[in-house]
Amino acid sequence: MERATYAEIDLGALRHNLQRAIMAAPTSKVLSVIKANAYGHGLVEAANAMETLTNGFAVSHVSEAVELRNAGISVPVVVLLGYKTEDELRLAARHHLSMVIHDTAQLKILDDITLPCPINVVIKLDTGMHRLGLPCQDVHYYFQRLCQHANVDPPPLIMTHLACADDKQSSYTDRQVECFKRQTQGIDAETSMANSAGTLGWPETHADWIRPGIMLYGTSPFAGRTAKDDNLIPVMTLRSSLIAVHRLSRGDLIGYGSTEACPEDMTVGVVAAGYADGYPRRLPSGSPVWVNGHTSKTMGRVSMDTIVINLKDIPAKVGDEVELWGKNLMVDDIADKSGTISYELLCNAGNNCTRIYKDR
Ligand SMILES: *Cc1c(COP(=O)(O)O)cnc(C)c1O
Repeated sequence: MERATYAEIDLGALRHNLQRAIMAAPTSKVLSVIKANAYGHGLVEAANAMETLTNGFAVSHVSEAVELRNAGISVPVVVLLGYKTEDELRLAARHHLSMVIHDTAQLKILDDITLPCPINVVIKLDTGMHRLGLPCQDVHYYFQRLCQHANVDPPPLIMTHLACADDKQSSYTDRQVECFKRQTQGIDAETSMANSAGTLGWPETHADWIRPGIMLYGTSPFAGRTAKDDNLIPVMTLRSSLIAVHRLSRGDLIGYGSTEACPEDMTVGVVAAGYADGYPRRLPSGSPVWVNGHTSKTMGRVSMDTIVINLKDIPAKVGDEVELWGKNLMVDDIADKSGTISYELLCNAGNNCTRIYKDR
């Protein structure tokens, strides 16, 4: 059987959400974050759809940046994890990539190489996330050192990453912003702090460049909110179809572990989607699924390639289309019910299923 589950990607919605980021921070430039295959939406397709509207792109790895260049993307591309080897630095020089420097081991590699042309670098500072970044208080030293470096085209952009911006009540963002602004004072360089949550919720983080990611794909960066609350349009619709419809009797048990019993004589449907497609196994029985304009509910456990849904009072037959998330069912809600965040569901589904593009 042809695989029935696919991710439909609405590139018009992607552009709408990018406009939303631009409007939220009108005086900042935009580095659109398309790491992890554009959060499962397709690296090159997403880049092509956004290139005329964005000032640059950010990816995690050099290989992703090279793929963008090979696809003809000519705007600045920042590699967020930077480089680990001399070869990666040579690729950066050849393809005019901007390399994040977050660790002194990277400086050593830069010192020991002679590049054919100087490259753009970005200094990443740790202001409290304690993941990647040079110590914030040492920024003057690193800035001077890199401005004078033979392999660097100065001045470096200076950035930091926010740990708690998705929580509007948290005071941690204020602490990070204060530290970043105090330490970078007097340095003549562009700066960047805001992810999606910073872009929409913390104007003081906008600086010269915003770095929106998840909001571009139409899901809210804030806990407990969905796309609609933030005027975003979901980009991915995860679709599948019904491959069986049965009548079952009251008390009949459904799926692995026989965890769910039919409460009455009823019709159920089997959808050809499961955790192999990126539909989360942790999603509890009773979670919503959209069928023929109705909200149905899952029954029992999610299998590898199937789920069972309740078709009581829902007219549906084999072959009918089912939406697992998208414009009718927010992925934010499905993520919440399965104890994770939309980022994870989008990456898993988008990278596991065939993608079909609309509105190129
Ligand atoms: C992933 C990432 C972003 C984008 O974050 P969202 O929460 O998806 O908006 C921005 N900056 C850095 C350094 C990142 O790694």
